[in-house]
Amino acid sequence: MLYRPLGKSGLQVSALSFGAWVTFGKQIGDPAARALMHAAYDAGINFFDNAEAYADGQAELVMGAILKKSGWRRSSFLVSSKVFFGCEDDKPNQSGLSRKHVVEACHAALQRLQVDYLDLYYCHRPDPAVPVEETARAMHDLIVQGKVLYWGTSEWSPEQIKAAHAACERLGLHTPVVEQPQYNLFHRSRVEKEYAPLYKSPGLGTTIWSPLASGLLTGKYNAGVPKGSRLNAPGMEWLRDMILQQPGIEQKLAAVPKLAALAAELGTSLPRLAIAWCLKNPHVSTVILGASRVEQLQENLGALDLVEKITPAVMKRLDAISGPVAD
Ligand code: NDP
Repeated sequence: MLYRPLGKSGLQVSALSFGAWVTFGKQIGDPAARALMHAAYDAGINFFDNAEAYADGQAELVMGAILKKSGWRRSSFLVSSKVFFGCEDDKPNQSGLSRKHVVEACHAALQRLQVDYLDLYYCHRPDPAVPVEETARAMHDLIVQGKVLYWGTSEWSPEQIKAAHAACERLGLHTPVVEQPQYNLFHRSRVEKEYAPLYKSPGLGTTIWSPLASGLLTGKYNAGVPKGSRLNAPGMEWLRDMILQQPGIEQKLAAVPKLAALAAELGTSLPRLAIAWCLKNPHVSTVILGASRVEQLQENLGALDLVEKITPAVMKRLDAISGPVAD
């Protein structure tokens, strides 16, 4: 496993990490989740990603039970939560980024995950209804209390990230160190263009999500929606529509066989090539993998050995195929 600094922070994060979205507490059973976490940890993965909203808190309960039983030293892994969407009812203050919800959601996540502190705590989306100073101070206070070590954002615009930094500097608060954006061959512009000025200063780290575009970049959706896949799982109709009815889906699906042919030429698989391409970007601190089976995780871990094979010539060909169809 390779380890990379999380932006300008002192934290070392494994270049591949593992997340619980739509799998833990939902698509897969607890034994499968345990097998995946152990396979990940045994391979050197040190970061496990979660959120209050994943399976309405169930994903954190499942992960917490696994962490508790694992016997792993707390110093050997990082665990995150994210606040914004809420996981209880729809009453005022049960979601969003007010001081009340940021603090209460942190306490709830600590209980579900059965840990004393979160290594990373993200604002899962921006909340225009709350002054950024209020959210930043709530995060700062949680850090001072030792309940959170680092805070960050997910899918904030560069302007919103800059505003958070400016507020923290003005008020003498801990600054956010990381952003969690989507990044894959089909979704590139935010990480490659919009955030470009932020990598040097303030020194943004990125923990990128959906490196396989929810499975599109495995080729499994090129001939319909196979049984047993994420987009075929009960209750996942919203995601199926979001992925398979997104703008430009026909062009993206048409690009998949071309990418698969390039992978075959390199003697590898499309998932490995797609993940290795993400790793190739020096501004990516870690690629958060998702998997519903250990075999998928094992295959995806092979991306680490592929990075060196992605020469500038291969990059050019990947750009030529994915660039014109990517968001
Ligand atoms: P991917 O895009 O990599 O999708 C993972 C899914 O693809 C798997 O669950 C599996 O689905 C399929 N898959 C994975 N490997 C293979 C393989 N080798 N062959 C065939 N199919 C494969 O990542 P995710 O969308 O899961 O995102 C990763 C993590 O990022 C999440 O767990 C979460 O922690 C984070 N995230 C953060 C978000 C945010 O807003 N901050 C939003 C979304 C995710 P199947 O069961 O169909 O086989």
